Amino acid sequence: MSNVNVTLPPDSVQKPTRSFPCPLCSTQLELRETRRVKPYCVCNSCGIQIFFRGQKGISRLRKLLDEHERLIGGPATPAVVAFNQLEQLRTQKSDLERRRPFIFSDADLENAIAAIDRDIVRMQAILSDLSGASKS
Ligand SMILES: [Zn+2]
Repeated sequence: MSNVNVTLPPDSVQKPTRSFPCPLCSTQLELRETRRVKPYCVCNSCGIQIFFRGQKGISRLRKLLDEHERLIGGPATPAVVAFNQLEQLRTQKSDLERRRPFIFSDADLENAIAAIDRDIVRMQAILSDLSGASKS
């Protein structure tokens, strides 16, 4: 299982994506590295960035991820990360749809729903790309 060769998009890193849950919406966020090789992640929907700058924090993060991977049997693949984000978007969309007024439509709300719709389509395209690239 660990030797399965997954084809990744050329600009992505070789190792599988590790993720960290957003403290606000619990979407699994892709962990990236700053130029100084410190981990950070960004939640676009909450508009927050999390930087792990301290040596202790970084080693705690690694330990946490290692333990998590041991439990779930491996790091989250880009497909899992994309799928989690897709699920999160769907939740956000239905939350907004529930706030629709009964009679008059709210243009701002409709715009927000349309924007999430576009994100959903974008995520679906990413997932479909991933499936095409990794199917053997
Ligand atoms: Zn979030």
